[in-house]
Amino acid sequence: MRTPPYVLHSPTSLDEALEIVNQLLQADEEFDWVAGGTDLLPNYKWHLNAKGHVISLAKINELSTLSETHIGSMVRLHDLSESSLTHPLIRKAAGSVASVLIRRSATVGGNICLDTRCFWYNQSEEWRESIDWCHKCDNHTAADCRVIPNQNELCVATYQADLAPVLMCLNATIHLASPNGKREMPITHFFALDGMKKNVLETNELVTHITLPENSGEFEGEYLKLTQRKSWDFPEAGIAAAWKKSGSNIDELHVASTGLESIPRLHSDEVVSEIDNWNGEDSINKISEVIGKSIKPVNNTNFKPSYRRKMAKVLIRRSLNKLK
Ligand SMILES: Cc1cc2nc3c(=O)[nH]c(=O)nc-3n(C[C@H](O)[C@H](O)[C@H](O)COP(=O)(O)OP(=O)(O)OC[C@H]3O[C@@H](n4cnc5c(N)ncnc54)[C@H](O)[C@@H]3O)c2cc1C
Repeated sequence: MRTPPYVLHSPTSLDEALEIVNQLLQADEEFDWVAGGTDLLPNYKWHLNAKGHVISLAKINELSTLSETHIGSMVRLHDLSESSLTHPLIRKAAGSVASVLIRRSATVGGNICLDTRCFWYNQSEEWRESIDWCHKCDNHTAADCRVIPNQNELCVATYQADLAPVLMCLNATIHLASPNGKREMPITHFFALDGMKKNVLETNELVTHITLPENSGEFEGEYLKLTQRKSWDFPEAGIAAAWKKSGSNIDELHVASTGLESIPRLHSDEVVSEIDNWNGEDSINKISEVIGKSIKPVNNTNFKPSYRRKMAKVLIRRSLNKLK
């Protein structure tokens, strides 16, 4: 399993990185960003959508700023999970990613932009050839999707990164930059319901940082994930919950999920109707049932969709337990 050859670019500033992008696109060359490389490089070894050029963000210091309300895209997950400046909910989610060795390289930007995963996709080239290829990475072969057969329009690979749901619950904003300028949006608007496109990033665009509202420290919360092994693993289902209370009143409550669909999702509609008529355990059970019905896992990860959906409901009840 050898990485296909590629040209590595190592800019030392954002401006330089965007200039390289301009030059590559003008020359009709394809490229990927690489941050920690803990996902991109294994994927390259398996010949999954490898490109001829890779632009490393490792030497761009301005992307590594960390404060209570600003998280640079190149902040390492280990630093995020150990810092006293990090919100406890983000700390917990960051600390649950993979192993300490991986977290020392893995970054926030790479986690948010993590490629979607699928049993039929995350395999070697020889394996994929033996099943007549995969739509997500071998589309020159006109392969069908193995999860939803007889079509090659929709890719339902699963988004299995841990940070997105907690950032959604804390009302985070994501900041992007390209040679055309900068833009920002609520992180809930960043993801695209398409296992191949994954998010709204343009070809020439990257994530520079995340910001949190000044009042995010007022939120308490929980992040729980279902994994095959306790030691390290991608979430088969991940549930984040965050709430703001005054006395016994719940002012705000957010629940978001990951590892269950092609995008992480904030479940606003399913939660909002319960807040005004909060009734402890009853409300928690209702929220868990309604969200359980709305999520649609497919058969492309280690556990069966029915089990993941059942466990998502359990994780929702457990994460909201402190609100009883
Ligand atoms: C054994 C193992 C276990 C793992 N377990 C987990 C887990 O439990 N939970 C989990 O969430 N992840 C897990 N991962 C995946 C991965 O390690 C993490 O998600 C990590 O945070 C990815 O960050 P990175 O910097 O290494 O990303 P990279 O591999 O560098 O990049 C990942 C993707 O993001 C893009 N990208 C990176 N930075 C930017 C940017 N600033 N702007 C635009 N695009 C960008 C890259 O082009 C690439 O497509 C695991 C990986 C391994 C190998």
